[in-house]
Amino acid sequence: MKTKYATPQALLIALLALTLGACGGSDEGSSQPAPSAASDTMDSAADAADTAMDAMEEAADEAMDTMAEAVDAAEDAMADAAEGAMAAAPSAAGGSCDLAVEVGDTIAWGTTSLSVPSSCSSVTVTLTHTGQFPKNAMGHNWVLIPADALEAVATAGMAAGIDNNYVADDDRIIAATKLIGGGESDSVTFSLDGMDAGSSYAYVCTFPGHWSIMRGTFTIEG
Ligand code: ZN
Repeated sequence: MKTKYATPQALLIALLALTLGACGGSDEGSSQPAPSAASDTMDSAADAADTAMDAMEEAADEAMDTMAEAVDAAEDAMADAAEGAMAAAPSAAGGSCDLAVEVGDTIAWGTTSLSVPSSCSSVTVTLTHTGQFPKNAMGHNWVLIPADALEAVATAGMAAGIDNNYVADDDRIIAATKLIGGGESDSVTFSLDGMDAGSSYAYVCTFPGHWSIMRGTFTIEG
């Protein structure tokens, strides 16, 4: 047996067409009243169409609600992800209390600025010389001082001599590694007590002739 209308939508359209067509016909001034049987059939068809329309509207409303909820959920998830990324950013962008500084056979720092969070209970700086020259030819050290003491401390360091790592006994020096040559490494650990985020600090290599170029800024954040 062949089904005349394959889908509920097709049936609905057919019912609507029937309803409109039948009503239109009776409006066009036929003097003969429609037989009551035909009228009943028309009413039934109209009722069925209304019911179908109501069901479709309800289904459409529910679908819209579901979509709106899905969009809200997606927006919330994106906002959460963005907040998560923002929160993670400070620690990802140099929040470490352990710093690594590289130097080589040139009069230059691998990096000319360092920063640490104020929350560090202590800070460790590890200086690594990746070059070949011995320390008496191209030695480097890492000396942390208030920025305004840089030249005075560097000059005094030269006078202190290589046996003292070119570091003078000076209260303004916050931290200093020993003097190292190619292939060597040294670390220094110090507290941030007595330092503050509003002040300017510098680090310098006090090997003779290096300080005017080998200088960097050290910042305490937050
Ligand atoms: Zn140096």
